[in-house]
Amino acid sequence: MKIAILSRNPKLYSTRRLAEAARERGHEARVIDVLRCYMNITSHAPSIHYRGETLTGFDAVIPRIGASVTFYGTAVLRQFEMMNVYPLNESVAISRARDKLRSLQLLSRRGIGLPITGFAHTPDDIEDLIKMVGGAPLVIKLLEGTQGIGVVLAETRQAAESVIEAFLGLKANILVQEYIHEAKGADIRCFIIGEKVVASMRRQAKPGEFRSNLHRGGSADLIRITPEERSTAVRAAKIMGLNVAGVDILRSNHGPVVMEVNSSPGLEGIETATNKDIAGQMIDFIEKDAVAGKTRTRGK
Ligand code: ADP
Ligand code: GLU
Repeated sequence: MKIAILSRNPKLYSTRRLAEAARERGHEARVIDVLRCYMNITSHAPSIHYRGETLTGFDAVIPRIGASVTFYGTAVLRQFEMMNVYPLNESVAISRARDKLRSLQLLSRRGIGLPITGFAHTPDDIEDLIKMVGGAPLVIKLLEGTQGIGVVLAETRQAAESVIEAFLGLKANILVQEYIHEAKGADIRCFIIGEKVVASMRRQAKPGEFRSNLHRGGSADLIRITPEERSTAVRAAKIMGLNVAGVDILRSNHGPVVMEVNSSPGLEGIETATNKDIAGQMIDFIEKDAVAGKTRTRGK
């Protein structure tokens, strides 16, 4: 097969591993920088142009679209879909996953356990919002944040009020969430490929920190997940419409709660922690699943 890897940087661990795994299996793999793709979207025959050439003949595309280029990146992916190229994750599913409110609403609608979460736009309603989600301590999150940046723990009602006020004053979109104290600074990353958890790891925040992101100094180790956690993770990815996903779960007193579903989960942490060839499993899945023109949504 001829596989396009949509990524801004061929040197990134995940990009390198995917290209390597594809070539090991006898495929042609090409890393394409989404921001260098340009297209005539009114043409009858949809095409993508790249550094002066027309991209043709691809059987599958692996989107590895960074959060900062979601808008343009999903447009390019949609163009691949219009050209009948099989996407490992669909553009619509990626857009969904990138919007935290939309994701939580979709998951909640289908009965997935979530931390109690609220959001508001106007500072006038802060008091009521805090009451609604059960009072302090609370976690306040910038909707545009990634890698734990913009995630704040407010221990008291006063702290929560001032942080929310400050964020809203800056016109930032936020959500306000019940703090899952009993998770003790740990979360579980379940790596999903095609309705299966193929690997999982526990990430533990460094001392004095509640955010377990590896980028924030957290450490990863192996964990055995429960059947309930497994089925929650699989259902969450399925609801989002993602073939490949990183589902982040907290162990709460009321069972597993999903924090977020990542549409472009990194490979370095999980491959290192588990010693598994996850990139290879992604390519194996493409070999089984890829059919020209197979998208549920065609970007709609
Ligand atoms: P990001 O998308 O920036 O990684 P997350 O929502 O995943 O933001 O939050 C970062 C980290 O903060 C999580 O990995 C988790 O360890 C911790 N965290 C987030 N929300 C909660 C919560 N409601 N209760 C307890 N810990 C949380
Ligand atoms: N048009 C999209 C779909 O049908 C969006 C719906 C949604 O938010 O799930 O898949």
